[in-house]
Amino acid sequence: MDKKRGVYIHVPFCIRKCRYCDFPSFEDREHIDSYFKALITEIRDEKETAGRITDTIYIGGGTPSCVPPLYISSVMEALSKTYVIEDDAEISMEMNPGTVDPGALKVYRSAGINRVSLGCQSFNDKSLRTLGRIHSSDDIRNTFEKLRDAGFDNINLDLISSLPGESGTDMERSLRKAAALSPEHISVYSLIIEEGTVFHELSMKNELKGLPDEEEQAETDLMVRTVLKDFGYSRYEISNYAKEGFECRHNIRYWKREDYRGFGLSAASLIGNRRFTNTRKMVYINQPGGSFEEDRTLSRKEEMEEFMFLGLRMTEGVSADDFLRYFGRDITEVYGGQLKEQMADGFLEYNGKRYFYNDRGLDVSNILLSAFLF
Ligand code: SF4
Repeated sequence: MDKKRGVYIHVPFCIRKCRYCDFPSFEDREHIDSYFKALITEIRDEKETAGRITDTIYIGGGTPSCVPPLYISSVMEALSKTYVIEDDAEISMEMNPGTVDPGALKVYRSAGINRVSLGCQSFNDKSLRTLGRIHSSDDIRNTFEKLRDAGFDNINLDLISSLPGESGTDMERSLRKAAALSPEHISVYSLIIEEGTVFHELSMKNELKGLPDEEEQAETDLMVRTVLKDFGYSRYEISNYAKEGFECRHNIRYWKREDYRGFGLSAASLIGNRRFTNTRKMVYINQPGGSFEEDRTLSRKEEMEEFMFLGLRMTEGVSADDFLRYFGRDITEVYGGQLKEQMADGFLEYNGKRYFYNDRGLDVSNILLSAFLF
């Protein structure tokens, strides 16, 4: 039987570029129509995928909610002609506060969207301004209410920690405000200063002030875990917390290396051991699906690396039996030294079936995971 696939759709438009953002997204809206034409062509021309079953679809960006909603319906329609979309498929869409109205939400609902990831980033208005966001904390609350009114019962709120000029107490207040809304899912990512962003420019000039040091960062990580646990959320991945049964099925697919096909500018795909990524440039509209930035077959070693560094991001970790089944080798034969050392250091645990990081390990996983690269 064919394996199921996840589908990712990239919508690269935003109202205004945030000061920390290096995602492929453009303020210039003149290409919206030709972009969606190209996107739909790419979906329709996907012969190899035709007839496959999908049970997770994720429409991300950019800000998918800043384009006229009928474009989203037309993408869903094209997908339903290429794929068999399971009845209980998880169909997520990213939205930003201040970009949704009840009429648009109705269109999204009837197009099949049943999960929303709302890019809040902070409930601290000063931090929202520092980040260059287009919305206030009141806009987040209003949008959240509109989503609930429209019937969305699976909502993620995205937050960022370690913001310039924000204390641990500010972050805790912000997190508590998010949790008090009782979304089904909360993601908390630490700010990373990426090249090509305004924040990067400022940091090169030594003008990005008030970033936390390592100790403050560790205190914040501990606070996030504690507060979210108190509110009934379980951590299931380094940065992701959910109420029971609301873990994001699409993202789990990435960490488990299950097949997914990405459509649109910069969208990445993994089909078996082939990884390919569309161009990040707007030239995409002239050659949808025909201009790859990367297209290669992973070696066995690379697959093993990915199995470890993606799987260990999840609190359930990796299964020794799965490793043996996929690669025909015992996990300890390949990674015995690293596993032993990280267990002895008290970061990694083994329950007789799976290796997984405890909270201490997850907090420093960016360092620990590099040990699994050949
Ligand atoms: S809304 Fe999101 S994708 Fe758009 S510029 Fe801001 S961070 Fe980037």
